[in-house]
Amino acid sequence: MQQKTKGSIFIISAPSGAGKTTLCRKVMAKLGNIVPSVSYTTREPRTGEVQNVDYTFVSHTEFRKMIGKGDFVEWAEVHGNLYGTSKKRLEKLMASGVDVLLDIDTQGARQIKDSYDGGVFIFILPPSLTVLGERLKKRMSNTRERSDDIQRRLSKAEDEIKDYDMYDYVIINDELTSSLRKFEAVITAERLSSSKITMSWIKRNIFR
Ligand code: ADP
Ligand code: 5GP
Repeated sequence: MQQKTKGSIFIISAPSGAGKTTLCRKVMAKLGNIVPSVSYTTREPRTGEVQNVDYTFVSHTEFRKMIGKGDFVEWAEVHGNLYGTSKKRLEKLMASGVDVLLDIDTQGARQIKDSYDGGVFIFILPPSLTVLGERLKKRMSNTRERSDDIQRRLSKAEDEIKDYDMYDYVIINDELTSSLRKFEAVITAERLSSSKITMSWIKRNIFR
């Protein structure tokens, strides 16, 4: 029986390359009823990325226009590119009752924390900075990223990790299957929260 009456938001951050995209894709495929919030960005698409699926890729001018109109629930400059979460998209998804995954950086997470009452904050850590560097290099070989991008991301990682205590949960992404199980456990626990049901739901579904 579906116990939940309203959707939750899960805010996921990690240093670039820690495995957030991989984990988010797998957890959504496994659990169902949870969808990504597709962000807007000014960065160039990587090979295989699809418009309006991975991101909505827009120009700087378009992005700035959206900031001016107050279209973003949060936005930030990350590694020289702009990224933002559309207020309209997020509200529409939440109203439909599904859970929403926000894969955003620590600056964006902070803005959501300050402006939104609720949300489950999850931080993904790499096993070490050395392993993070190896994962970034491996990904670079499949994309148009350059080695100076990797250096930039690695030097930012240390600063981002210092924000770990803003999050409710920390998952060290060492072995993928085990990390995925932990991620699922957090989402499942949130779905079982007593705050997710109401007395009227109990009257309709249990008192019968
Ligand atoms: P992010 O979204 O955090 O930038 P990705 O999900 O793109 O990171 O992962 C970065 C690279 O590391 C990818 O090549 C991915 O396949 C790999 N990766 C992710 N998780 C693991 C893991 N647990 N063990 C080994 N490699 C991993
Ligand atoms: P990438 O370019 O590797 O896809 O993402 C780089 C960083 O931007 C990641 O840390 C990712 O979480 C973050 N990011 C993606 N979308 C958004 C967004 O809408 N807002 C913010 N603040 N960060 C985002």
